[in-house]
Amino acid sequence: MRQEFIRTLKEQIKEGAVMEQEPMSRHTSFQVGGPAAFFVEPGNRRELKAAIELAGEQEVPCFVTGNGTNLLVSDEGYDGLIIHIGKLLSGISVSDNLVEAEAGASLAKIARAAHEHGLSGMEFAAGIPGSLGGAVAMNAGAYGGEMKDILIDVDVLTPEGEFLRVPAGQMDLSYRHSCVFERDYIVLGARMSLTPGDPRQILDRMNELAARRREKQPLEYPSAGSTFKRPEGYFAGKLIQDAGLKGYTVGGAQVSEKHSGFVINKGGAEAEEIRFLIRQVQKKVGRQFGVMLETEVRFLGF
Ligand SMILES: Cc1cc2nc3c(=O)[nH]c(=O)nc-3n(C[C@H](O)[C@H](O)[C@H](O)COP(=O)(O)OP(=O)(O)OC[C@H]3O[C@@H](n4cnc5c(N)ncnc54)[C@H](O)[C@@H]3O)c2cc1C
Repeated sequence: MRQEFIRTLKEQIKEGAVMEQEPMSRHTSFQVGGPAAFFVEPGNRRELKAAIELAGEQEVPCFVTGNGTNLLVSDEGYDGLIIHIGKLLSGISVSDNLVEAEAGASLAKIARAAHEHGLSGMEFAAGIPGSLGGAVAMNAGAYGGEMKDILIDVDVLTPEGEFLRVPAGQMDLSYRHSCVFERDYIVLGARMSLTPGDPRQILDRMNELAARRREKQPLEYPSAGSTFKRPEGYFAGKLIQDAGLKGYTVGGAQVSEKHSGFVINKGGAEAEEIRFLIRQVQKKVGRQFGVMLETEVRFLGF
């Protein structure tokens, strides 16, 4: 059955790439995670749809990834098909105030394109290392901006195999949330509305935010950014620090000494160590302050 699956998949995917037993540590910013049984990077929308349909027909579980910057994959890996939306689906075009991009385009590249065209509104996203697809799914945001502020509409593939253009107002965008997960949408691309601005000022703002990131965040270590969502009325990092957990270490996983809201891979961490550490932080903060920290990081294969 599995042999038949990979054979048919390879027949369908010509522009893209198909791999077996692909280590997910190569595709996640934590740099941990065991192999995906099947890993495909579709070269176009038709190949993406074909891969999904084939997985459905042959009852192979399926999961979509972008840049893997908000993802912890188990050490055992994922016994299914990873559909990686990356460089092969990453076109960006700009006309007037409108930026249109495919899901695999990185936020950094989109922000650069906006800057080059004298368009303001993407500065907040320039330092977020995700893809557009992941950013829409997560409603990524930083420094007072979020995807919700700029999205006009989103192109998706529905679980029924339909290509739809969904207005941003119907995407249920809120703090680090969209309807992508509940509706099992695959984000294919999006259109964003920006405003004309002075390129010099846009660049200054991007540089200022990048400097703030370098100063506050442990960018020198693999991580998935802020591990936890901001609980209402609190800051996750402050609660963790106040619970005495700054620098708390489990094997190669550590609560960053630079920013307690980041769990980092200090070197050679296993996914299980990261997950255990996250659980311990949740328990200790819960016990001490009565606040349940919800993870922003998503888990796969546990
Ligand atoms: C150093 C660092 C700093 C960060 N700073 C920020 C920050 O300031 N603000 C912020 O919001 N986040 C931040 N992040 C987290 C992360 O970059 C964002 O959540 C980003 O939007 C995730 O995009 P991705 O492509 O990496 O998604 P992935 O990690 O690949 O996937 C995340 C989730 O989105 C889903 N997904 C991905 N692509 C698609 C698609 N095309 N269609 C449907 N679902 C999809 C996946 O299934 C998964 O559930 C940071 C991460 C790091 C490592």
